[in-house]
Amino acid sequence: MPLVSSTPLLQAARQNGYAVGAFNVHTLEMLQAVVESAEETDSPLILQSTVGTVKHLGADYLAAAAATAANRTRVPIALHLDHCTDFDTIVQCIRAGYTSVMIDASMHPFEENVAQTKRIVDIARAAGVNVEAELGKVGGVEDDIVVGEHEALLADPQDCVRFVELTGVPTLAPAVGTAHGIYKGDPNIDFERIRSIAAAVSVPLVLHGGSGIPEEQVKRCVALGMSKMNIATEIRIVFSNAIKEVFATNPDENDPRKYMIPAKKAVKAAAIEKMRMLGCIGKAADCR
Ligand SMILES: [Zn+2]
Repeated sequence: MPLVSSTPLLQAARQNGYAVGAFNVHTLEMLQAVVESAEETDSPLILQSTVGTVKHLGADYLAAAAATAANRTRVPIALHLDHCTDFDTIVQCIRAGYTSVMIDASMHPFEENVAQTKRIVDIARAAGVNVEAELGKVGGVEDDIVVGEHEALLADPQDCVRFVELTGVPTLAPAVGTAHGIYKGDPNIDFERIRSIAAAVSVPLVLHGGSGIPEEQVKRCVALGMSKMNIATEIRIVFSNAIKEVFATNPDENDPRKYMIPAKKAVKAAAIEKMRMLGCIGKAADCR
């Protein structure tokens, strides 16, 4: 089927108490690997690219590859632009065929975040594209965006209510204590805050910084109302490690297929593992 907006995928997840995995991909093989994971397990899927990957590969290439993958399968797949601070890049991606975009104006004061988000919501609605916005500040490093621990700021539930009302944003990423990258210790997730925010707003909620959160905590986040989890660093690591292993045993290897095939397999296994944790396996039919 063609690429779909992530809105119905996430609404079904919110209603039925599971979360959809959103995987950041950087190469064709990574994209194919997560699509195969979704297909084999009959799971809904969100493919994501960062702004850096859009600059690296081109929005048109990414959208064409995602559309081809979606057309080859019966599971619903959305293509999402992760953490974008730039209006023109968002418009470029929507034009190229992205079905979901994130406007990240969380570094600005509340009113400015509202104004920038609303502007994107108005454009995206006309195109049938989902929008995600961030409230509070998720810590860590994502592409070129670096938020230090002292700058990270958790989202206030009442601000979330006002933000959703003022912007009409269909998906919200409230900062709840997770961070981008791999955690040094255990993540410091504010579960009570997730509960309050999920009770206060009806839109699907997004958990950023999903790499390396222990399974029990992932499940708790989902049970409390998180409907999408972003996974970037973890699949990048398994992909790269599989390639390093090939070269460790065969430093002269020069056939890309010889190292891309094991890398793809590793990503596929990791993605299925995340889908299982999120409870979205077998849920593709919810949005067909
Ligand atoms: Zn993020």
